[in-house]
Amino acid sequence: PNNRTTLIAGNWKMNNDREAAKALAAELVEALPEVPAGVEVLVCPPTIDLCCVAHKLEGSAIALGAQNCYWEASGAYTGETSVPMLKSAGCTYCIIGHSERRDYFHESDEDQNKKAKALVAGGIVPVFCCGEPLEVREAGTYVEHVVAQVKAGLEGLELASADQLVVAYEPIWAIGTGMTATADDAQEVCHAVREALVELFGAEMADGIRVLYGGSAKPGNIAELVAKPDVDGALVGGASLKAADFSEMVVKA
Ligand code: PEP
Repeated sequence: PNNRTTLIAGNWKMNNDREAAKALAAELVEALPEVPAGVEVLVCPPTIDLCCVAHKLEGSAIALGAQNCYWEASGAYTGETSVPMLKSAGCTYCIIGHSERRDYFHESDEDQNKKAKALVAGGIVPVFCCGEPLEVREAGTYVEHVVAQVKAGLEGLELASADQLVVAYEPIWAIGTGMTATADDAQEVCHAVREALVELFGAEMADGIRVLYGGSAKPGNIAELVAKPDVDGALVGGASLKAADFSEMVVKA
């Protein structure tokens, strides 16, 4: 219930092979011949399947995003994928700072800051993830934790318009666990994120930036989540791998 376009974004993570990725993309296109007014749909397949999924999504209402990027444009960075490469593959969004990348691949706030700047400069919208682990939630300092991540990850980023950035609040204890945060929990932190965005980018810009919730979002809870004033959609892991569930979430959002 606000003037921002709701974004339902699927993070396929490291799942599916090429044929399965193509099949899932085709099923989504069939299930969502058009997207409801006021809603935008995004899928983020593994890097290796971006091109074949792009091909399947051509002419559809579904946008393509990557799950990670590197900040240098080209050069001797074995195994990495640059922003211009993602752009030429058809990506308009790129997830950065997912907790799995921060935890398993030791990515820092500084890394996210470089990625965010490279993406915006290269014309791709970062979906900047933040969120607290269970210990921090239990200690009660989760708002400070998330606000610090947002400020460190996005400081110095220059935006020409609010649609150049998306933030996803993903409490780590809710990711892949079935333990969805309550809609009130999501609202509390998404609101704090927006206040941090006001400090970084000014009130007018912050009012237009989408702040998503992520963590066991599914068809049964999406409507309640996006009904909250500062929750502008969801970043969806598990439920994005089933075309029926994901398209149901789009319709209910
Ligand atoms: C995620 O990791 O981005 C996520 C939200 O996963 P899930 O929906 O499976 O909890």
